[in-house]
Amino acid sequence: MNRLWVRLAIGFILVALITTGLVTILVNRQANTQFNIFIINNELVQLGILDDLVSYFDANGSWQGVEQILSNPQPSRGPQQRRGMMMNTLPDLTLADENWHVIYSDRHDLANRPLPIEERGNALSIMSENRVVGYLSAGLPAAFQLTTVEQSFLDQLYRSLLQVGLLASGLALLLGIIIARGLAAPLHRLARAARQIAQGKLDQRVSVHGAEEVADLAHAFNDMAASLQRNETLRRNMVADIAHELRTPLTVIHGSLRALLDDVYPMEKSEIASLYDETLTLNRLINDLRELALAEAGQLTLHLDTIDLRPLLESTADFFKSAADAQGVNVILSLPEDDILVKSDADRVRQVLRNLLSNALRHTPANGEIRIQLEAQPGQKMAQISVSDTGSGIPAEHLPYVFDRFWRADKSRARERGGTGLGLAIARQLVEAQGGQIGVDSTPPAGSRFWFTLPQTAG
Ligand code: ADP
Repeated sequence: MNRLWVRLAIGFILVALITTGLVTILVNRQANTQFNIFIINNELVQLGILDDLVSYFDANGSWQGVEQILSNPQPSRGPQQRRGMMMNTLPDLTLADENWHVIYSDRHDLANRPLPIEERGNALSIMSENRVVGYLSAGLPAAFQLTTVEQSFLDQLYRSLLQVGLLASGLALLLGIIIARGLAAPLHRLARAARQIAQGKLDQRVSVHGAEEVADLAHAFNDMAASLQRNETLRRNMVADIAHELRTPLTVIHGSLRALLDDVYPMEKSEIASLYDETLTLNRLINDLRELALAEAGQLTLHLDTIDLRPLLESTADFFKSAADAQGVNVILSLPEDDILVKSDADRVRQVLRNLLSNALRHTPANGEIRIQLEAQPGQKMAQISVSDTGSGIPAEHLPYVFDRFWRADKSRARERGGTGLGLAIARQLVEAQGGQIGVDSTPPAGSRFWFTLPQTAG
């Protein structure tokens, strides 16, 4: 089965089985030899061989001549009662002094050599006057066999190990199920919520708790759901806004055509001219929308070049002055002495500037003033262009929205004047696409100051 709890439980059981299996094999190997050596060592003590050696050393003060005892051992205590077999064949004996140097051995390969390290752990210490004076090591006799009691002790040991293995596997299964259930539950909840979102229920959220990774996933899921919901709301608002904006000129055109057909209005050129104006508004709106959609999708083609901002501002201001003069508004151009070079698309910079200037002119009464200023911001390596007017200004509560699409302080009047409500939204996209920022400061009724920055180039 492909379920998490089954996989975890199988993993746990395998670990438990492999561990107990390995322990059993190791114990089996070690226990057999170690247990046998323990039995033999015990036997040597029981038979009194160890005591005989201690007495020999006490009497002689050295191991000299000890071969006589060891080559033909005559166990000092009644031997036959425990292990008849062993009395016929005593194990191979090896005696080493306190420095592990072999003094006597039944095995020829060990004569006059140090006792091999791996055999030292099994050797019995021979003590005289509270100090070690030598070591006795016994090899297994060829015909060595455990007694029934000893064999049943070993069998019992293996049985216990098997029981431990089975118990560990059972526990592993239980733990696997509990842990996997705990892990899988939040994942199930996430999957359920994801399916709901796929069905369009974007307000789905999951609770954020549990293991850190799971909580992280839940967090990311909630963020994603919130962002989807936000985008969906924006999309709906945008469709509604566009429908609303298109309906107004269309209603005007429709009403006027009806009136002309019904002879309510005379079929005169002036009437048709106003209808023509409405189609121009529609056309502008559609062009602006297309431009904004492209800019928002990052698909506007920008021809970035090193441009000198001073001549660009001069020519745009000149072009704009006649319209301002006609409205009785004074245009002041304030430029620094040095050239300011930026990496930008000249046409797009002009487009932003024209937008800010026509807005300023639209909101500045006769005898007012529009100031175009260019400054270098050396610290931030940016150039700043600002357009200040002495117009109505924008109340503080409206400032956060002026760059939103279709936002107008006074909806009906702005539309009457031909504004689509998209100019500043497009300007923001254009400036940001060129690596700059755009903003506005306003202290009504003292007017507004719109500004944008562009990245300067060195030199
Ligand atoms: P519009 O086509 O309506 O001018 P914009 O996006 O250019 O659209 O401007 C959005 C709104 O911001 C305007 O309708 C107006 O209310 C306000 N606004 C823009 N520029 C100025 C300004 N210089 N002074 C006062 N209000 C302004």
